[in-house]
Amino acid sequence: MSRVFNFSAGPAVLPEEVLQQASAEMLEYKNSGMSVMEMSHRSKDFEDILDEAEKDLRTLMNIPDNYKVLFLQGGGCTQFAMVPMNLMRNKVADYIITGQWSKKAAAEAKIFGQVNEIASSADKNFSYVPDLSDLNVTPNADYIYICQNETVHGTTIRKLPNTKGKILVADISSMFLSEPLDVNKYGVIWGGVQKNVGPAGVTIVIIREDLISDQVMPFTPTMLKYKTHADNKSLYNTPPCYNIYICGLVFKWLLKLGGTEAIKKINEAKAKILYDYLDSSKIFKGTVEKKDRSFMNVPFVTGDKELDAEFVSAASKAGLKNIKGHRSVGGMRASLYNAMPVEGVQALVNFMADFEKGHAK
Ligand SMILES: *Cc1c(COP(=O)(O)O)cnc(C)c1O
Repeated sequence: MSRVFNFSAGPAVLPEEVLQQASAEMLEYKNSGMSVMEMSHRSKDFEDILDEAEKDLRTLMNIPDNYKVLFLQGGGCTQFAMVPMNLMRNKVADYIITGQWSKKAAAEAKIFGQVNEIASSADKNFSYVPDLSDLNVTPNADYIYICQNETVHGTTIRKLPNTKGKILVADISSMFLSEPLDVNKYGVIWGGVQKNVGPAGVTIVIIREDLISDQVMPFTPTMLKYKTHADNKSLYNTPPCYNIYICGLVFKWLLKLGGTEAIKKINEAKAKILYDYLDSSKIFKGTVEKKDRSFMNVPFVTGDKELDAEFVSAASKAGLKNIKGHRSVGGMRASLYNAMPVEGVQALVNFMADFEKGHAK
């Protein structure tokens, strides 16, 4: 076996300890005589897995009692529709556009109502986060929407928008559990887990209880109502059982490591290694304004498409995988999620420095 350093933006690297435990429990989970994959979702064993996953997530994120935690399917993109279907009472919402994922969310919301783009960084190819301290909030907007970490463009909103009393909805897919967040500041937080928490197939929604109601758009299918899943503790239908089990193992791994405060320090240190190198390099450069740089997704370029391609290919041969940037941005992107060890980032930077020496002008 030879595991590589996998810099994929998602599905992405998982902690090796978690994969080992899953492997050890593959044929028989505890004393159940079967794999978690084979269990009824109504069994006691699975109910315990689900309860424990929720309990551990509540501990990790310090989730207040007046918020529900839902384990859903349909990926992040289904939330782009679920959010407006469930929350647009006046059929108006304000969106902050900082990259590909907030742009897609806004486009989907337009199916359901009026979408006002109250801030955008499209003018500079989403390479920064606009000032969000005094926005032109629409008086009857039902909520304000952000994508807090833009996976493709590599920006993070570090200072939440001044919502002027409106409900804040945040897509945190690619920064889930990477640092502490104050859940109280949000109405809804959601994320697909395949970036930083687990295997593709689970979307976690954390929603304030008063936002869950039957007052949804009249055509909303049962499966797309938050209330359906809140009333049934995420067991209205068969949930993605095995994937929830893996998320639960990742939560335990993170708790053992010291939780979100501890992982934040590690993530900052990892990102610093790469950004410091980028800032000193003569051939590579980061594409995002310093103050808005993501600790999770680091896009960079050489400015020469052929050299980019040569680098991606050489890195891959050296066991540094999935460094190619998203097709909309080009260049390279290294995702440094929780499970990426510091050794991986160091290996990448060493490789970049060697590559730079070999290409000195
Ligand atoms: C990947 C991603 C999505 C889309 O998730 P899917 O599960 O593929 O639908 C949405 N938002 C962000 C920030 C993402 O990184």
